[in-house]
Amino acid sequence: MTRTIKIFDTTLRDGEQCPGASLNPEEKLEIARQLAKLNVDVIEAGFAIASQGDFEAIKTIAQQIKGPAICSLARCKKEDIMRAWDAVSYSDKPMIHAFLATSPVHMAKKLKMTPAQVLKAAQEMVALAASLCPFVEFSPEDAGRSEHKFLYKVVAAVIEAGAKTVNIPDTVGYTTPWEFAQLIENVIQNVPAIKKKNIIISVHVHNDLGLAVANSLAAVKAGANQVECTINGIGERAGNASLEEVVMGINTRKSFFDCKTNIKTKEIYKTSRLVSNLTGMMVQPNKAIVGANAFAHEAGIHQHGMLQDRTTYEIMKPEDIGLTESKIVLGKHSGRFALQKKLKEMGYALDKEGLEKAYQRFLTIADKKKDVSERDLEIIVAEEVYVVPEDYTIESIEINSGTKTIPEATVTLLYQGKAIKKVANGAGPVDAVYKAIEQLTKVKAALVDYSIQAITGGTDALGEVIVRIKDKDKIYVGHGADTDVIVASGKAYLAAINRLLYATTQR
Ligand SMILES: [Zn+2]
Repeated sequence: MTRTIKIFDTTLRDGEQCPGASLNPEEKLEIARQLAKLNVDVIEAGFAIASQGDFEAIKTIAQQIKGPAICSLARCKKEDIMRAWDAVSYSDKPMIHAFLATSPVHMAKKLKMTPAQVLKAAQEMVALAASLCPFVEFSPEDAGRSEHKFLYKVVAAVIEAGAKTVNIPDTVGYTTPWEFAQLIENVIQNVPAIKKKNIIISVHVHNDLGLAVANSLAAVKAGANQVECTINGIGERAGNASLEEVVMGINTRKSFFDCKTNIKTKEIYKTSRLVSNLTGMMVQPNKAIVGANAFAHEAGIHQHGMLQDRTTYEIMKPEDIGLTESKIVLGKHSGRFALQKKLKEMGYALDKEGLEKAYQRFLTIADKKKDVSERDLEIIVAEEVYVVPEDYTIESIEINSGTKTIPEATVTLLYQGKAIKKVANGAGPVDAVYKAIEQLTKVKAALVDYSIQAITGGTDALGEVIVRIKDKDKIYVGHGADTDVIVASGKAYLAAINRLLYATTQR
């Protein structure tokens, strides 16, 4: 019988832990909404006790997102379990994910606990969680380096205490597919309660050796029935197993795995773009499944084959992940109705206000650029609709630069309805714009990263700029797009500043 593999998405918990990917509560909710459309089985929304912000985000997601189970991480401590329960209890499918390390090095060096103490704490805290919450998952952290007999003992004990899912993580990304598959097989064989009680065996693998997806798939083949993963594989260090690769691996090689998932694969591409836009973590062009080149057949010999028959070089169809050709869809004379209809086709149901914002932005782009493509519309939606309240908006940017002048920017911003203006010089036009914005907003944050890329082909393409600024150890991401790259740069910087102001004045 074909097994169904559950997809446990941890983009908002483990994924968000990577440097520079921090998301505000609205952005988390937006991603959670898209994850529900993607039809993941579990959304791990955060680590409730880590901060008030994390707690609120999990609670809001639990209140508003229907479909997937909503989960919070918790250490094996009473206050952690209680806090996690407080946050997830608003969901109709609440879940607590408790973890405790079981490897000798973690127990001795990090926890300073004996194996007997670890066993007792795991058992007691899982029992506490299970007394509150119908779905409890337990992870023996660093299982990959744990002593096998002890691992089986802990797994058996937490199942006895009420855990419905046992997750075997390779926390440090150290194992190989052969070893990891063997470990999963051993756990299943040596803990009879797993089969008896239909316990879900989950895996959570990191990508330090580039093996996260391979290890996850090997584990599936060995009997695991849940995979923990993130969109675009984001996460600490080299990241987590990438959801889209795991899912498309299982889908494309269905007869080999004899498994399926509940994922609506046509939502993959859109989810990937949303996460990349909101976290500012760009997807490398050659990334499997969702990279810009993943379905591009440029080489002449391939194109010839493709024209004869697509299956010569294509093992998946771009439509399967929701990638429709980025065709020209609208022009200058398209009206509100046409835009609404197109956005609806693309899966964006905007309210009146969102649509009006998108339309105004569409007009300015259509004015500069003859044809507006689906990719352009995606950017419009990402920029105009998923935003935090803005303290400052750009009224105008004028630039004087070139080989013979000192770059000078005249920037006018709107602040509480009033126009404020500043002229500044810089090493280049972007630097001049940033100096003017800095003086106008009086926000002094270090620029830690600036990147630019063309979104669509041609010299009239939209330029997309992503900046990261740092203030008191927190990173804020700003995103801006425009046919003029200097304007895009200004927008991105100001968006990051608005985000910083929003975060620091809200809490
Ligand atoms: Zn992890």
